Amino acid sequence: MELLIKHIRTLVLMPPGPIGGRHMREVPIVQDAAVLIREGRIAWTGPADQAPQAQAALSAEDGCVIPGLIDPHTHIPFAGNRANEFVRRLAGESYLSIMQKGGGIRVTAEAVRKATLEQLVEENLPRLRRMLSYGTTTLECKSGYGLLPEHELKQLRAIRRLAELQPIELIPTYLAAHALPEEFEGRADEFIEMMSNPELLQTIRQENLALFCDVFCDRGAFSVEQARRVLNRAAAAGLRPRLHADQLARIGASVLAGEIGAVSADHLEQIDDAGLEALKRAGTVAVVLPGTSFFLGIAHCPVRRLLDAGLSVALATDFNPGSCMIESLPLVMNIACCQLRMLPLEVLTACTANAAAALSLHDRLGAIAPGFQADLVVLDCPDLDEWFYTPGRPRVRYVLKRGQVVYRSQ
Ligand SMILES: [Zn+2]
Repeated sequence: MELLIKHIRTLVLMPPGPIGGRHMREVPIVQDAAVLIREGRIAWTGPADQAPQAQAALSAEDGCVIPGLIDPHTHIPFAGNRANEFVRRLAGESYLSIMQKGGGIRVTAEAVRKATLEQLVEENLPRLRRMLSYGTTTLECKSGYGLLPEHELKQLRAIRRLAELQPIELIPTYLAAHALPEEFEGRADEFIEMMSNPELLQTIRQENLALFCDVFCDRGAFSVEQARRVLNRAAAAGLRPRLHADQLARIGASVLAGEIGAVSADHLEQIDDAGLEALKRAGTVAVVLPGTSFFLGIAHCPVRRLLDAGLSVALATDFNPGSCMIESLPLVMNIACCQLRMLPLEVLTACTANAAAALSLHDRLGAIAPGFQADLVVLDCPDLDEWFYTPGRPRVRYVLKRGQVVYRSQ
């Protein structure tokens, strides 16, 4: 099966990731271009007047073509709703006070424990359908709200079921240590032992329920030593490490990410020079989550320092019921542009080539290059500058997954 996308005003020829620092804004652009797709992969790109013949064609109607967006950090699937906490925070109550009165992650954990696998699927499927309409074609999904092996496994199995029911490719992560459940208060090490016991990790690996293992390593969450223990055991079982690092305090989490060769270190609002150096040395992708800072009204990650240090930066929504209910990666991209002073090409690289690298998928996703999977978005604007200039305006005309149109705007 062949498909020629023609009448492309601007084609962003995103190279394969990871792409570091200033190179993120040096991406080639072709004006008046075409793309040939064969058997779900990109077969040819170039000027429209040199385009080969194809069995079928799709007009971009003078729009801009970019790689399908990749969201490398979300907390789908979850259950329940914490809108009341959001409003209490707006009214001045602190996150800590809300947590002490029984709010926070434990509320979601309770809802997830109560939900059946089918209910988790039903509640999260509409979210994925909306994400597709925003241009997201690949998405990382974490467990981490079950806080007991059986409920973590239920979440991971719900991810697998969700992957079968809609076009977005879902990449599962076992978030082994996210929060301490009430019944383990004062017994964090016991909890860690239970969540990283070899039998559980083997089940996850053998059933192919996760590719990665993650830990929330921060003040008020889990220590560097606890995170190291979990991630080393997970790595021995074949689950590659990633880490929630340096969000609330500097406890050495990004240094740990570098030391153990984590695929990504995520958050990094509090990163220091030692952390930057460790990530750089290890080639760990820095995943920045500006939607969370925006939603909570707190300081952003110093992303320009990361870029100046030459790190490969990715962006993600961090979509979750407590600290960021933003499903739209384009909205997060706009925040990165307007509030983190990232340039349109840097932002696009962060959400395609580098997001693919953050999921270790950069050999087939995130680029517009021959042989790469034909995951593409056609925008209804002539170029990227125009897209970023109009935050909040829906711009997605078509979404293609493996060369098939899986979403079109009305
Ligand atoms: Zn997170």
